[in-house]
Amino acid sequence: MRPVITAKQIEELLKSGGDVRTLPADAIYTPLAVDLLRDAERQAARPPASPSDSAASKAISSKNPKAEIDALFASKSCLHVKEQICEVGRRMWQREYVDGNGGNIAVRVGEDLAVCTPTLVSKGFMHPDDMCLVDFDGNQLAGTKGRTSEILMHLQIMARQPRAVATVHCHPPYATGFAIVGLEPPTCLVPEYEIFASVALAPYRTPGTLGMGKLVADLVDQHNIVLMANHGVVAWSPKSVEDAYFKMEILEAYCRTVLVTAQLGKPPNTFTPQQIQDLLQIKQTLDIPDPRIGVKEANLCDNTDWRPGVQCAVPAPPRPAESAPDTEALIQAITDRIMEQLK
Ligand SMILES: [Zn+2]
Repeated sequence: MRPVITAKQIEELLKSGGDVRTLPADAIYTPLAVDLLRDAERQAARPPASPSDSAASKAISSKNPKAEIDALFASKSCLHVKEQICEVGRRMWQREYVDGNGGNIAVRVGEDLAVCTPTLVSKGFMHPDDMCLVDFDGNQLAGTKGRTSEILMHLQIMARQPRAVATVHCHPPYATGFAIVGLEPPTCLVPEYEIFASVALAPYRTPGTLGMGKLVADLVDQHNIVLMANHGVVAWSPKSVEDAYFKMEILEAYCRTVLVTAQLGKPPNTFTPQQIQDLLQIKQTLDIPDPRIGVKEANLCDNTDWRPGVQCAVPAPPRPAESAPDTEALIQAITDRIMEQLK
């Protein structure tokens, strides 16, 4: 005869710290007992409450039973992550960092699990229900829409950089311009950029391929932003998806400022090695990686790579001595013709 399990029995089991998974699978459960079991399973699958939006939980991995993975994906903490992804997508679209269905976002929510954006959806108009759950091989485990085609790069970053909680990829025009000409933005010009950004440049590969992701992942140990040649930018954060997005804003504003600086016809004033050393010290206290940390002061402010570009971007001013006679002759010719007609 199959045993009958009541709600009271389950309550007592939970009170004594027992595991509901030890209950016999072939037992008959009363309706109240079924409800209690469901709650208990959801509780077990839920990552510990965290003040951050990461919802990162080492407790859940792709090896957990599907019901637990589904419960995680439906949990409040995951909903919060989904809402934050939608919000960041909206900001990216409003600032014209993405167009069409470009750009993608991922947030780590388990040992080898991430919530990510769907494919073929504008980042400006996403809904939490559009999100997908994937394992670190890119297999989709939950969500009704198909996951982004560029997810492998995000997952490879997370696998290589254990501190990466969130990754954001988009195509902001100024930063992408630097990526297209294969130029890392110059350094030693603006304090915020020095402190919050560590930029590297990865060679071009077809977007969405393992090869592309590997080239980016190779750089995330010492950099939190990677320019992808002829493509766009990806940034990671150890805190949250919003923080990863902030990196994007800082980079894009900086690249725009550099282009304005380059057009002013005067060489920029750059930081001294001591000034940059002070900024790197702040960066170190914030635990932001930078390959220059520990480098000798004398080698810190090497901007020679970009200076030729700056000089080329400043057009030579017209020489009045050359143009003046031509202009005068033209005015004289027009005046003569008008006077002729008036006669
Ligand atoms: Zn892209």
